[in-house]
Amino acid sequence: MRMYDIIEKKRNGHELTDEEIRYFVNGFTDGSIPDYQASALMMAVYFQGMTERETVCLTDAMAKSGDSVDLSRFGDLSVDKHSTGGVGDKTSLIVGPIVASLGGKVSKMSGRGLGHTGGTVDKLESIDGYKTTLTNEEFLSQVEKVGLAIIGQSGNLTPADKKLYALRDVTATVDSIPLITSSIMSKKIAAGSHNIVLDVKVGSGAFMKDIEQAETLANQMVKIGKACGRNIAAVITDMDTPLGSNIGNSLEVIEAVSVLKGETKNDLYEVCVTLASLMLSLCFGWGENEAKSKVVEAVESGSAFNKMKEWVTAQGGDASMLDDISKFPHAEFEYKVKSDCDGYIAGFDTEKIGLVSVRLGAGREKQGDTIDHSAGLILKKKTGEAVKAGDTLAVLFTNDKNSLSDAEILFKDSLKITKQQPSDRQLIYKIIR
Ligand code: URA
Repeated sequence: MRMYDIIEKKRNGHELTDEEIRYFVNGFTDGSIPDYQASALMMAVYFQGMTERETVCLTDAMAKSGDSVDLSRFGDLSVDKHSTGGVGDKTSLIVGPIVASLGGKVSKMSGRGLGHTGGTVDKLESIDGYKTTLTNEEFLSQVEKVGLAIIGQSGNLTPADKKLYALRDVTATVDSIPLITSSIMSKKIAAGSHNIVLDVKVGSGAFMKDIEQAETLANQMVKIGKACGRNIAAVITDMDTPLGSNIGNSLEVIEAVSVLKGETKNDLYEVCVTLASLMLSLCFGWGENEAKSKVVEAVESGSAFNKMKEWVTAQGGDASMLDDISKFPHAEFEYKVKSDCDGYIAGFDTEKIGLVSVRLGAGREKQGDTIDHSAGLILKKKTGEAVKAGDTLAVLFTNDKNSLSDAEILFKDSLKITKQQPSDRQLIYKIIR
C-alpha cells in the first residue's frame, strides 16, 4: 500500500477502504508517514468529505492509536460529557457534581484553554491544591467512591489525534465535519464512558457558526458514537452570547458555586439542567421530566453543592474556598465599562468577548503561556436587556493595568446595542438521540 495512492484516491472523490484508513492512522502515529502527506490527505478529506463508514473507521483507528481507559467496573453507569467549546462555559463544574450526587459515575478528562475559549483544567487549578493529574488507579477509585473525578488529558490517549489536530490547526483543515467528528469521538471512545452527552455549541463564540452546520456535526457524532457501541445524545445550545455572567478561571468557579447553591438561575443554570438531565436519562433510563425534577431537587437540597465539596476535597483541593469565595485571590485592578448610549443589548461577538478575557490575562495566546487565574470579566448586562447611558455593562479584572484600555475597546467593539428590543434568545435548539 502507498500513501500516494490513498491521497490520490481521496482527492478524486473515492471512498477509502478500512485497510487504507488504518494504514494511514498507524503510519502517521508511528512517524513512517510524514506530515506533508498527512496534510495532503487532510485537505483532500476537507474538500471531498468522508462517508459514515469511513468516519467510523477513522474514529476507531484513532481511538485505538494509544491507551484507553477501562471503566467496565462501573457497568452502564459511567458517563461523560463534552462541549465543543465556548465562552463562559463552566457547565462541567456544575453538571459533574449534580450527576454524581444522583448516582452517575462521572469520569472526565478535560483540556486547557487555548485561543478565545477557556479550559476546565485551568478553572479547577484556581482552587488551591486541586490536582489535575491522578494515577489511573487514583482516578478510578475516586470515581468509585465519590462518583466524580476531573483530570487533565493524560497518558498516551489518542496520540493520532494529538498529532493530527496539531497539523490541521496549521493547514486550515480544522473545520471539516468528518475530521472534527473523528477527533472528538476518538477521545470520548478512548476515555471509556458508556454514556456520552455532547454539548454542540452554535453561534459567534463557537466552531459552528450556524444551526445547519451544528446539526450536521451533532448528528454525525451521535451516529458514530452509536456505531462504536455507546449510549449517546447531543444537545445544540446557543453560543451567540457568553454562557452565564462570569468569564475567567476563578470567576467561573465562583459562578458555578452560586448555581450549585441554588442562588443563580440564569441561562447557565438552564443549560446545566438540560445536560445533567440527559446524562442521567442515559444512565438510568429516566424520562425527561423525572430526570429534570431530580436535578432541580439535587440543587435545591444542597446535595449537588455538597458533592462538589466532596469531589474537590478528594482531589486535594481546598473546599473551604467554595464555602467562602472571598478566599479566591482578587485581581489588583477592577474597571467598570459603561454604556455610551441608551438601547438594548442585541448580541455579542462572543469570540471577541473570549479574547477580552485573554487580553486581561485569563487565557493563552499560545500553548505554554502562563495564565492569571483571577483575571477576567463579569457581564452586568446580557442579550435582551435594556441599558441607559452610564450603566455598567461589564466589570474587568486584571493584574496587568496596561491591558485595560485594549480590553475596553475590544469589549465595546464586540457589543451590539440597538434602539429596538431584540426578539427572545433561544438557548436550547435541539436534542438529538
Ligand atoms: N475539538 C476537537 O477535539 N477536535 C476538533 O477537531 C475540533 C474541536
